[in-house]
Amino acid sequence: MKIKEIETKTALNYSEAKSRYTLNPYVGCSNACIYCYARDYARRYRKIDWKEEILVKINIVETLRRDIIKRRPRYVFMSTMCDPYQQLEEVYKLSRKCLEVFLEFPLLEVEIMILTKSSLVLRDLDLFKKLKKISVGLTITTDNDEIRKLFEPRASSIEERLETLRFLKENGLKTSVFISPMLPMNPEKLAKMVKPYADSVFIDDMHYKWRVENLYKRYGLSRALTNDFFRSTKKKILEILKK
Ligand code: SF4
Repeated sequence: MKIKEIETKTALNYSEAKSRYTLNPYVGCSNACIYCYARDYARRYRKIDWKEEILVKINIVETLRRDIIKRRPRYVFMSTMCDPYQQLEEVYKLSRKCLEVFLEFPLLEVEIMILTKSSLVLRDLDLFKKLKKISVGLTITTDNDEIRKLFEPRASSIEERLETLRFLKENGLKTSVFISPMLPMNPEKLAKMVKPYADSVFIDDMHYKWRVENLYKRYGLSRALTNDFFRSTKKKILEILKK
């Protein structure tokens, strides 16, 4: 994996569609999810090879401080173009440093939403406890770690993510689970696993099916890429969650 340090002009990017700012300390992601949607952006706008290269926004801390003063954001999402707690974060600590910048502006009470597939997020529990409005989401797309290894080869295991979720919840954090995209799974089992520790659960189908079709075929999983599968899986998950 090639690591390229770059200078960024902006730290906060506004999304009209979602009415929120996004913050991406990195562009590119070592989790290497087969279905990753963010890679299209990277290829189109940044001309990077998603599998081979990660851009590290080396000046993001100063840029974020300036952007907060200028834009006074109310809601910030971390992240859309990377996992903010991917492996590189252990070295660069940019996500952590960005959270420290938000602590410099307590009166703004910025609402921060973190989304990750990594247990490294627990490292920053001390900061989460100081930030007034923060929620941490774990993406958990299946109950089956063999499936996880096929689709999300370098992300934390399902067990580690569940343990992370449990720990965050037990420490008083607002938590959410993103079952997105729904991978082949036992929906009842997954719903029962996440239910005690998630304040909210978001569920979504697989988009860009063409990208993963061959993998599904190779492992005899094609049924799990049909609309029927997504409909019935979502229904079963919701039935357990609503009980
Ligand atoms: S964690 Fe998100 S950004 Fe990273 S490879 Fe997976 S889908 Fe893409």
